[in-house]
Amino acid sequence: MIVGVPTESISGENRVAQTPETVKQLVDMGLKVQVHKGAGVAAGYPDKDYQDAGASIVATLNLEKVDVLTHVRPLSTTVVNKLPAGTITVGLGSPASEGPVVKALAKKKVTSFALELVPRISRAQSMDALTSQALVAGYRCVLEAAMRFPRFFPLYMTAAGTVPPANVLVLGAGVAGLQAIATAKRLGAKVQAYDVRAASADEVRSMGGQFIELDLDAQADGQGGYAKELSSDRQARQQELLTPYVTQADVIITTAAIPGRPAPRLITKKMMADMKPGSVLIDLAAETGGNVEGSVAGVDTPVKVQGGKGHATLVGMKDVPSAMAYDASRLYAKNIANLLALMNVDGTIQPDFEDEVVAGACLTHEGEIRHEPTREALA
Ligand code: NAD
Repeated sequence: MIVGVPTESISGENRVAQTPETVKQLVDMGLKVQVHKGAGVAAGYPDKDYQDAGASIVATLNLEKVDVLTHVRPLSTTVVNKLPAGTITVGLGSPASEGPVVKALAKKKVTSFALELVPRISRAQSMDALTSQALVAGYRCVLEAAMRFPRFFPLYMTAAGTVPPANVLVLGAGVAGLQAIATAKRLGAKVQAYDVRAASADEVRSMGGQFIELDLDAQADGQGGYAKELSSDRQARQQELLTPYVTQADVIITTAAIPGRPAPRLITKKMMADMKPGSVLIDLAAETGGNVEGSVAGVDTPVKVQGGKGHATLVGMKDVPSAMAYDASRLYAKNIANLLALMNVDGTIQPDFEDEVVAGACLTHEGEIRHEPTREALA
């Protein structure tokens, strides 16, 4: 069977679906790998390294001859329409927002696996691209904050005086938030963090952060360890209780998300009014609606604070894992290779739909949309 590795077509996407390391893993599994010329260059993987690992480099990836198409961003309908029935695709599918592509995948009888759907169970951790990419994003957003913050993160006691550490506030303590806490701690900041899920308090503390308890009077733990959306009055109460923490923070990182829903609004413009001049807000959820009012993905927005005495910088993050494409691809490619290894039988990919990881990750198969919420949403 031939595994295809295309050059990603979305502008600003530097990641690649396979690296030379995973090509070797796939070849050892008995698969053949074709890499589109230059597919890994933006991520830092030259063609020669793929060749050395056992792949062939092709000027054009012939989609009619590829058995398994691996990818990073969701495929376009143009690409899907070129795939013969029975082709297997593996990559991010964004089923909630890519309805026409999902319908095309079903219509073309493509067996597609969307990495967002990989069940979040221990056995599937090595295939969990949401986790691997959130780890990259959580780390990177702290560095982006540090670059924009006009002060040190760590405490310095010098002959010329003492510099206090930065106060970092992390809102949303899932995978990205926990990485942000760890990274800010490594840089020497004092870190406070908050999440609506009860279980996150211990996780925050294990990363060295101080957990903020809010008296919300709401049960926000949903299915599968995810948070539930708060009612509008609970959301308003949350904003009110968070305001003093927002005001005293030097750097705020927001990472809150609800699966399949727009990002919860944690910080309003009003809440930012008394922030310190020079402070920085990094909104990791800017591409899904924003945790912070006014954030625009890919844009730094100055926000007037303290009645115009100065401004804070609101940063809407965009394509974050792509900014660290080498390591983001390394982890992402490994997630795909591990999923393929689970389905590999003597050099052919044969999905066993009795396996809960395989069944859970499957988006379309034999003309059907297998993922129930997507099927219902598109009915
Ligand atoms: P996510 O990216 O979906 O969301 C980020 C965080 O935002 C979550 O912690 C969520 O509780 C929080 N949040 C949502 N609404 C909020 C609000 N109004 N205020 C404050 N915070 C809010 O989350 P994630 O990183 O994917 O993790 C979600 C869950 O999945 C966690 O329980 C995690 O332990 C679990 N998980 C399991 C596995 C596995 O077993 N393979 C892997 C990764 C994550």
